[in-house]
Amino acid sequence: MKAEVVSMTADNLDMEAIRRGGDILKQGGLVAFPTETVYGLGGDALNPQASMKIYAAKGRPSDNPLIVHIAEFDKLAPIVAEVPEKAKILAEKYWPGPLTMILPKSDLVPQETTGGLDSVAVRFPSDRIAQELIKAAGGYVAAPSANTSGRPSPTTAQHVEEDLGEAIEMIIDGGQVGIGLESTIVDFTEDVPVVLRPGYISLEMLQETLGDVRMDKGLIAADSKVRPKAPGMKYRHYAPKAKLTIVEGSLKEEVFAIRQLAYEKSRQGVQVGIIGTNETVEFYTHGLVKNIGSRENEKTIARNLYRILREFDEEDVSEIYSESFAIQGIGNAIMNRLEKAAGHCRIPASVLTKEQKYRKIVFVSNTDTCRGPVAAEIFRHQSLDQEYWIESKGMVVLFPEPVNQKAEAILKSNQMTLEGYTSRPFTEKNLNPETLILTMAQAQKEKILSEYPSEYTDNVYTLTEFTGETEEIPDPYGQPLTAYGECYEKITLLIEKLAEILNSFTKGGQ
Ligand code: AMP
Ligand code: MG
Repeated sequence: MKAEVVSMTADNLDMEAIRRGGDILKQGGLVAFPTETVYGLGGDALNPQASMKIYAAKGRPSDNPLIVHIAEFDKLAPIVAEVPEKAKILAEKYWPGPLTMILPKSDLVPQETTGGLDSVAVRFPSDRIAQELIKAAGGYVAAPSANTSGRPSPTTAQHVEEDLGEAIEMIIDGGQVGIGLESTIVDFTEDVPVVLRPGYISLEMLQETLGDVRMDKGLIAADSKVRPKAPGMKYRHYAPKAKLTIVEGSLKEEVFAIRQLAYEKSRQGVQVGIIGTNETVEFYTHGLVKNIGSRENEKTIARNLYRILREFDEEDVSEIYSESFAIQGIGNAIMNRLEKAAGHCRIPASVLTKEQKYRKIVFVSNTDTCRGPVAAEIFRHQSLDQEYWIESKGMVVLFPEPVNQKAEAILKSNQMTLEGYTSRPFTEKNLNPETLILTMAQAQKEKILSEYPSEYTDNVYTLTEFTGETEEIPDPYGQPLTAYGECYEKITLLIEKLAEILNSFTKGGQ
């Protein structure tokens, strides 16, 4: 069977197609349709065979109950045993909308639909196409997300076709959904209402309306032994094929850490994916970067999450790193889905200490003709546990000049040379998370800090300061060769200390 795909919009409903969809449902068939949250896989909620078909089409465990969708308020009473006062208040405030309520069920609802439970999950969606289809089907449509169990929920009709195109009769294409995450589920079977699944309607919004509302303990303590009350929340849903890891810290730390992880994995030949945001994507230079939306408007992130996870399944990546989001409002729902997709695999950004991120060392002097290039050359001759890109730059370089002859003479007497090297100017590009900037004197450090108000200037140190010394490196300019010799000795001591410090970082010390 290949599903018939019909397209329509909420403003331009194809009522004839909706009637046909309604007939398919009434006869026990399956129709996928858009809702404001995600696409649903509809079957007649009062027909046990239709519910069984839904489980089979999705490959869903049959202990995972379905949500019954209604499209008129007076359809609620017949399927529930009672409606607590607080549930009435919520229905009035948020229905139609992305809110599901768990209520004690009436005999009208078959056990197959509720996965054997005595309660039923009910939602009144706001999407017009969904509403018309539900009415055309007789008023009660059981509809889980229209994806194969374990894949990200569908936010477009194409996603539904990918997963279920061969398994169902009809797909109604109403374009990309508005919210992109499944409904908030609130349980009313106990004294205090409990959120079993966070969604667009946040805990804060519910508390404002009802007062005391709690989060299901099984959701908060992801790795604890407490079972989530919604059977569906215990499964590792929404899993992408690649291993997804959430990196947690301040945004700046997260970007640093993900950059570093991507860099290291790429060097090992591992294809890496990165989930970044409007605010951060430009900082990633390795890996396949996808922009999930704007932190300024987290609704965009919710809307794009499942699409991006699906897109990564099409790509040849085996590791995905994601930034994390604040756990409040819709961010709570975003993190809940992201953590499930990651199988709760999270790492603190701080495991990569600042020092372990350095890949480049830039030695900065005034003219880049003496102390800076000499320090770089001595550093190149150290035995280092890790490969660094080593450079020197000058704060005042108007045109390329060769290295000072006395400095070169001292180097030569120590079996080194900078023959052919010409001076280069320091630029803003040298300021980045991977680069450690070491200036020869305090003056150059101050100049960088005042001239480049960049977020990366905290990688700028004087060489003396970084190595824990106090005495500044002398400037031999205009003095006899012996002064250059003394300067060389001083720099050598500092560079040996520098190598020791950097080697201790890569060993995981400090
Ligand atoms: P989905 O159909 O994919 O949106 O998932 C429906 C979610 O609602 C699953 O996590 C179910 O476990 C949950 N659910 C449905 N009915 C009940 C119920 N009666 N009690 C608790 N959770 C329910
Ligand atoms: Mg689902």
